[in-house]
Amino acid sequence: DKIKVALNGYGTIGKRVADAVMRQDDMTLVGIAKTKPDYEAYVAAKKGYAIYAVDPAKAESKFKAAGLSIAGSNEEMIKKADIIVDCAPEGIGEENKKLYEKLNKPAIFQGGEEHEVAGTSFNAAANYDQAIGKQFVRVVSCNTTGLCRLLYALDKAYGIKKVRATMMRRGGDPNDIKRGPINAIVPDPIHLPSHHGPDVNTVLPHIKIDTVAVKLPTTLMHMHYVNMNLNKTPSREDVIATLKQYPRIWLIPPWLNIKSTADVIEFGRELGRPRNDMMENVIWEESVSVDKEGELNLFQAIHQESDVIPENIDCIRAMTGIEKDGAKSMEKTNKTLGLGS
Ligand code: NAD
Repeated sequence: DKIKVALNGYGTIGKRVADAVMRQDDMTLVGIAKTKPDYEAYVAAKKGYAIYAVDPAKAESKFKAAGLSIAGSNEEMIKKADIIVDCAPEGIGEENKKLYEKLNKPAIFQGGEEHEVAGTSFNAAANYDQAIGKQFVRVVSCNTTGLCRLLYALDKAYGIKKVRATMMRRGGDPNDIKRGPINAIVPDPIHLPSHHGPDVNTVLPHIKIDTVAVKLPTTLMHMHYVNMNLNKTPSREDVIATLKQYPRIWLIPPWLNIKSTADVIEFGRELGRPRNDMMENVIWEESVSVDKEGELNLFQAIHQESDVIPENIDCIRAMTGIEKDGAKSMEKTNKTLGLGS
C-alpha cells in the first residue's frame, strides 16, 4: 500500500516536498494545508492537490471568495494521513506537534525547529537507520544538510580530525521581501562559533567542527568555504573521486564555466529543473585542494530552497518503514527527482 502523506505548511519547502511526493510510486499526497488563499494555493488547486484550511473558522470565507474549494480542516487532513510533513514557519512546528501527539500521527519537522522537538535529527546518507520507526524526526536545515552530506562522505573515506566552515548565507529567499540585508555584510551570529557546528553534531556527533556565518545581500544560494584536517592524506583527485560517488554532491568541472551562484541557478534553469532547483551540494572541482598534511579546502554552493527535499522523501520511507535500506531509498529518490543529471 502507498504511504499517505499530508503537507502541513505549504511555503518554500512545503510546496517542493508536495511535488516530490507526487513523483514517488510508493507515496500519495493526501493534501496540503494553507492558512489563506494566495497564488501558491491557486497553483496547488491547478495541480489537483486537495487544499485543507489551517484555521477553517477564519479561512473558509476567504477561500470561498477566491473560488477555491477546501476539503476540510488540517486536522481532518492529518487524520487521513499515515505521516505528516510539517513545513510551517520556524517555531510553529513545535506548536503543531501537540496536534500530532493528540491524533497519534508521525511527523517530520524542518530545520527551523530545535533538535529537541523531534529528538532525532536526520540526514539520509549519515543516519537513515536512526529514523526507522520513529514518531518524530527533524530534517536538518539547508546549511546543515549541505555540511552533513560533505562531512559524512569525507569522514567515511579519510577520517576527519577537525572542520572549520564559513557559511556565506543568502539574506532571504527570492520571494521574501522582509529579510535582508540589502546593503551590508552581517556577521550572524557575532558570538562565535555559530550554531551550525552543534547542529551538524545532532546528526554526526563525533565530528569536531567550528562554524561561522555571515548574511549577504543575495537570495539565490548559500556558499560554504570548508576547511578540514583529515587523518589520511589523499590527493585532490582521490577526494574528487570519493565525492563523485554521491549523487547528492555535484562536482563542477572548470569547462562548465560556472563562476558563481548565479551561474549555478542558471544551470538549473537550463537543465529544466522545476523552479530551477539544484538539490545537490554544488562543489567547484577546481576549489578542491589538499596539502601534504591532509588539510583540505573547498567551496560548495547550497540551494537553500531545495537541498532538503530529497532528505524529506527518504525520511518518510525510513519513519514509515516502507524501505529499511537507506541506500535503496536514496537511489529511488535520486532517480525520481533527477539528481546528478
Ligand atoms: P515559508 O514561510 O515559505 O512557508 C511556511 C508556510 O506555512 C506558509 O505558507 C505559512 O502560511 C504556513 N503556515 C503558517 N502557520 C501555519 C500553521 N500553524 N500550520 C500550517 N502552516 C502554517 O517557510 P519555509 O521557508 O518553507 O520554512 C519552513 C521550515 O523549513 C522552517 O522550519 C525553516 O526553517 C525550514 N527551512 C527553510 C529553508 C529555506 O531556505 N527557506 C531551508 C531549509 C529549511
